[in-house]
Amino acid sequence: RWWNQAFEAAGFQDAYRVEMMPEGADPMDVRYNVIQWVHRSTRGWSYGSSVRDPRTGEIIKGHVSLGSLRVRQDYMIAEAILAPYMAGQEVPEEMLEFALARLRQLSAHEVGHTLGLSHNYIASTNNRASVMDYPHPYIQLKEDGTFDLSEAYDVNIGEWDKVAITFGYAEYPEGTDEKAAGEQVLLDALADGIRFISDQDARPQGGAHAYAHLWDSGESPTAELNRVMEVRQKALEQFGQNNIPEGTPLAMMEQTLVPLYLFHRYQVEAAVKLLGGFDYNYAVRGDGQSALTPVSAADQQAALEALLATLKPEHLAVPESILDQLPPMPLAFGRNRESFKGRTSVMFDPLVAAENGATATLSLMLHPARANRLVLQNSRNGNALGLDDVLGDLLITTWKKTPQPGYMGEVQRTVNMVTLRHIMNLSLDKGASDQSRAMAYASLMQLMDWLKTQTEVGNRAWAAHYQYALLMMKQWMAEPEPFTFPKPADVPPGSPIGSHDHSACGMW
Ligand SMILES: [Zn+2]
Repeated sequence: RWWNQAFEAAGFQDAYRVEMMPEGADPMDVRYNVIQWVHRSTRGWSYGSSVRDPRTGEIIKGHVSLGSLRVRQDYMIAEAILAPYMAGQEVPEEMLEFALARLRQLSAHEVGHTLGLSHNYIASTNNRASVMDYPHPYIQLKEDGTFDLSEAYDVNIGEWDKVAITFGYAEYPEGTDEKAAGEQVLLDALADGIRFISDQDARPQGGAHAYAHLWDSGESPTAELNRVMEVRQKALEQFGQNNIPEGTPLAMMEQTLVPLYLFHRYQVEAAVKLLGGFDYNYAVRGDGQSALTPVSAADQQAALEALLATLKPEHLAVPESILDQLPPMPLAFGRNRESFKGRTSVMFDPLVAAENGATATLSLMLHPARANRLVLQNSRNGNALGLDDVLGDLLITTWKKTPQPGYMGEVQRTVNMVTLRHIMNLSLDKGASDQSRAMAYASLMQLMDWLKTQTEVGNRAWAAHYQYALLMMKQWMAEPEPFTFPKPADVPPGSPIGSHDHSACGMW
């Protein structure tokens, strides 16, 4: 019913209503706009589509399909963060409220598609100006160490949504120049600082828009990444049997851990776009919008530091207190595509989780399009971040860090190898420019020289690690092109599961 707010803003009173479907009505009947609750085999995408008159484009019927398993995913995120199952205590009401708040937002989002609206991914950095963004739960860590879910999701239609409905639906008195009136609606919105950036800019992993992202929150991607890491860290520290209900196999903690461990992945994707990124608009000649501004050197440096922090072993090590409580899956239970993969057979493999976590950051940080833009921006402005700065800081944070003993050292070595493979990949990537490849090559040469100086390592695990890296690099130098890398383990899905080919559907 949120859309009534937008239609009221466009001058219609009570024109938009939501009612229960009349008894005996057919959901496929073109006379009814329908919101349908569907059960699927997994948490699929929800859809908002419409039947249109091919001659005029007029929307005749809107049809929303909401996937029922989606609500469980949010419930599981709440279970993972809150550790809510204290012995002898009631399960907090706010978990259900949290999941239902997401569902309300999702319903409004899909209805928005049926009304003809596109995604607006800049809304989450623009004061939640649209329900047509993909929201990430904004969970706050309170001073007393507990979590606050009360502002997790938006509760109203956004300012951009009112603009879009007014633009598309407003009726004007006879004789009004409707085109000019519509343009004025948009110009007024721009003057109010309400922005619009859609899929083509927000979706690509190599994208360059600093503020249009999927599944993110907050005005500053960097500050939000640092904040999200604190929430994640606190929840990881307290993670244990209170994260699953009484009577659940302990092994199922492994499943609940997944959305928590990867809780930061989409905020990483937001912050990474500051590297070699721009703030830009779909500016039209004469509309007064600024075309593009590069992200400042200081903001890029801060983003880089926040991203490198996600690679620290203390952030990527699954706490040993969790490992000590995790048996293999019992009979009739098993891992599925939502699980972490592993190389330790039935046992949970925390090093593959660390590998997944490092990959989430590095695959984006060293994306060839981003690398190419970093080279270009540094050539135009010597003070701006360059690819060599990124690679240099990356090696300082990983390989050149003081080796730690024990389990932390094992996590560190895992991250080092993921780093090495990603730099090697960049040096061979067909999408990377020659200069990006040259920079990747140079940083590997530098690493090789450094490794050769590490002859005094007292620890046999570290000595083997350094020798093995040298061997890999020699193989790569001798025969780079056919060199195949051991495939990093797949990361469990984050977004809803299933195809989202938008040429086929246009909306989801
Ligand atoms: Zn959508």
